[in-house]
Amino acid sequence: METDLLRKYLEYYQDLGIKTIYKRTSNAPAASPEPPPVVVQPVEAPVVIVAPPVELPSLAPSGDSLLQILNDLGDCKRCRLHEGRKKIVFGVGNERAPLVFVGEGPGADEDEQGIPFVGKAGQLLTQMIENTAKKEGIQLERKDVYICNVVKCRPPDNRTPEPDEMEICGEFLYRQLMAIRPKAICTLGGTATRAVTGRKEGVTKMRGKWFTWKDIPVLVTYHPSYLLRQYNQSAKREAWEDLKKVLHFVYD
Ligand code: URA
Repeated sequence: METDLLRKYLEYYQDLGIKTIYKRTSNAPAASPEPPPVVVQPVEAPVVIVAPPVELPSLAPSGDSLLQILNDLGDCKRCRLHEGRKKIVFGVGNERAPLVFVGEGPGADEDEQGIPFVGKAGQLLTQMIENTAKKEGIQLERKDVYICNVVKCRPPDNRTPEPDEMEICGEFLYRQLMAIRPKAICTLGGTATRAVTGRKEGVTKMRGKWFTWKDIPVLVTYHPSYLLRQYNQSAKREAWEDLKKVLHFVYD
């Protein structure tokens, strides 16, 4: 029985003049499933109900690790995206990375290999990370950061993940971010930005700006697939500026 309902019953009995209530003994027939254990005191005293401690689902169990999260994810069938996937694309890189990149979801190449950002967009992301770092005098390779996606299975025809898919898989993304606790997160494109910042504005408006997730600074930039389109060449320059900004913030 809910604590509030139980309290109302007790107050009702008190109004009727009933002073003492006993908890049902275990061999008395129960009309309904046993209520949670309660301590009921004589009603002259303020009614004190000691409910068992409620285990609130935590964002990340203490001592969480990427391996634990991967185990919990298992052969995930929590949403419809599992139906068409070849491989779950969990994430790649350094578990202690001070910088995490978050994309939207696996494409065809990632689905084949089980590794995020290995197709055309991924190659551009790798170049952007490594070339910008080199130009800026920062010693950094792709393997030194951590890269993952909001959803871990490829959406059919590379469509944008649905809100329920993002919500279900987002739990694992949040645990990944909590387990790594990087110095900064860089979101790539609208889906990742919405999932991490909870904001709805477009990326064009948000890019290059800092937000936070659980006190971790989040820099928003364009998705590399967007930069691959010929007519988005000016966005490329902006994305390079964003990358410089986040790399200096994390590695200076
Ligand atoms: N696009 C993404 O958002 N993620 C990948 O892993 C690949 C392409």
